[in-house]
Amino acid sequence: MKTEKVLVEGIVQGVGFRPFVYRIATELELVGYVRNLGNVVEIVIQGSDDKIADFIYKLQNELPPIAKINNLETEELENEEEYADFTIKESSDSFSGTSVIPPDLAICDKCLEEINDPNNRRYNYPFNACTDCGPRFTVIENVPYDRDKTTMDDFPLCDECEVEYKNPLDRRYHAEASCCEVCGPSLELYKNDNQNPVKIDSEDPLADTAKLLDEGKIFAIKGIGGTHLVANVMLEDTVNLLRERLGRENQAFAVMSPDIETVREYAIVSDAEEETLLSKERPIVILKKNESYDFAKSVSPGLHNIGVMLPYAPLHHLLFNHTDTPAYIMTSANVPGEPMMITNEEILKNLDTIADYYLIHNRRILNRCDDSVARFRNNELAFIRRSRGYTPEPYDLKGKYTSLNPEFDNLKILALGPELDVTFTILKNSKAYVSQHIGNTNKYRTYEFL
Ligand SMILES: [Zn+2]
Ligand SMILES: [Zn+2]
Repeated sequence: MKTEKVLVEGIVQGVGFRPFVYRIATELELVGYVRNLGNVVEIVIQGSDDKIADFIYKLQNELPPIAKINNLETEELENEEEYADFTIKESSDSFSGTSVIPPDLAICDKCLEEINDPNNRRYNYPFNACTDCGPRFTVIENVPYDRDKTTMDDFPLCDECEVEYKNPLDRRYHAEASCCEVCGPSLELYKNDNQNPVKIDSEDPLADTAKLLDEGKIFAIKGIGGTHLVANVMLEDTVNLLRERLGRENQAFAVMSPDIETVREYAIVSDAEEETLLSKERPIVILKKNESYDFAKSVSPGLHNIGVMLPYAPLHHLLFNHTDTPAYIMTSANVPGEPMMITNEEILKNLDTIADYYLIHNRRILNRCDDSVARFRNNELAFIRRSRGYTPEPYDLKGKYTSLNPEFDNLKILALGPELDVTFTILKNSKAYVSQHIGNTNKYRTYEFL
């Protein structure tokens, strides 16, 4: 029998990694423990040589969907105590170093099934999430990624959610964004009454929102990492009014459609574009309009292209359950050039000359994150804006630039720019962390954010 310590670095926190380790260890009848150590996961494993080798193989080859291993080190331990079973230990803050916070990810198939199943306790619940999906980067205050370091700390788990949260074999084991109607965030609908927000009593805020949108109202909808201005793409007067209120004459609006079949009705979609639209990152993809395209003229005036995304939050899916429209405009709610608005106070106050209604919720957004925008050139993906779904996952540049500068892998660099749509990049341990797009540097609020 031998004992090995395994240290794993990468996207291994908040992605169901420890329960995965627990599962493969117990399947192989190995004993020991797993725990988060700041930015790394430490595993101590005890058993026969063969089984430990099997374990290491499975660890690298059967990862949960979001998890990613960047570095794995093993070390044999001498004179280690004998363990009776395999356990998941409490996190420890003791290790400090570079940490990788997972990006926000689109709702997974299982969570989507739940919100559409009338017999499920999360039926119609717009904040459903599990270890495989939901907000991460936008709700995290600090690492290690535990609930008390996220804005979900405002929502103590109810009994039923707590049972799931504590069961290593449950999909919601340590799912820090897990919640339900009883214990989690909830929606509120407000009407803009001559620049005074008036709360509306609504049995079903999403059904009412869809109805009002389809009657031509303009909404501010607070989502996961930011706020959208939303309008029905079929209504020329409404879209024009939105342009007028925003002072935005020509720039095309991005739209969201309920599913890929609907997108095909008005745009040409290649296989690669379809794959990207449906990916868990869910960026906006610039597509070519087809001959049947019939949205209001002012959605993307004079262009052959349209920026399209598919629903990524449970809230979006539920909204589309109440409408037949092929798409809604979903454009970032910000003063042009300034960072997107994320607090309820900002939304209610600063959008009062733009939105007719507000659909907001009581979960705080810590890190704002715009929708990413991508397009294909010669079948190759190019980012116009790399943000939600991708940030803050770093680029690994180890060894790539040492021919230019032998010291490259040891450099620490902070880079900022340009003036319009500024981003910053931090290079540390040869990993480049590129920030989301923030705003224009001629605006004071952009500096505040930086
Ligand atoms: Zn899920
Ligand atoms: Zn609950």
